[in-house]
Amino acid sequence: MRYAIISDIHSNLEALNAVLSRISELNADEILCLGDIVGYNANPNECIDIVRRAGIRCIMGNHDSRASGLEEPDNFTPLAKEAVLWTRDRLTEDNKGFLRGLPRELAIEGFIVFHGSIRDTDRYIIDERNASDNFQLLENLDGDVRLGFYGHTHVRVAMSLQRGKVFLEPDEELKIAPWKRYLINPGSVGQPRDMDPSASFLIYDEFNEKVNFYRADYDIAATQEKIMEAGLPSELAQRLAVGR
Ligand code: ZN
Repeated sequence: MRYAIISDIHSNLEALNAVLSRISELNADEILCLGDIVGYNANPNECIDIVRRAGIRCIMGNHDSRASGLEEPDNFTPLAKEAVLWTRDRLTEDNKGFLRGLPRELAIEGFIVFHGSIRDTDRYIIDERNASDNFQLLENLDGDVRLGFYGHTHVRVAMSLQRGKVFLEPDEELKIAPWKRYLINPGSVGQPRDMDPSASFLIYDEFNEKVNFYRADYDIAATQEKIMEAGLPSELAQRLAVGR
């Protein structure tokens, strides 16, 4: 199987369309989304409709749970909170129901996908300690789970565990070694924060044991214009141009 793995779309319709058109050229068998379809940008219903129509298998992100009303955004930054409540006001009941019904994690043969951390949607993997804790959780899962794909930080990265230590791995093309375990983040489609404003995703080729990372350019100015027209905070438009 060749899996296309995308994350953190965040209501960015232009970025989502650019990524999906790139994926269609790359021949993926299935597309998986690691959560946060909505939040921050201005096209929540449109992005959910595309995900549903394309049959993309998706898990729930922290913005999805708040926008759908399953949880309140009490621990959000003021900026994230304003956008998620704006989103909640505009989502159709049908799309809210779709978000509420998403699973928190998915176990797929030989790997799992989760949003922030294993067993905790809201927690970030940002340092070696977090990575180490998640490798521990990965090892304790049933079956031989060698890979975990996650999102939430909006920063593309690949890490491995070898003899109890965490290592950074190449994040352009990565050959999967059968004796290591991996935690891999594809970066964000709709709000990259790794100083590259283009939309980020990856392809995991299970048969050839390879992960390839990709970036797709999209019409950032169009997305920014919609954010301003919607009355969302202007910082949300500005950050898209710099990728942070
Ligand atoms: Zn996110």
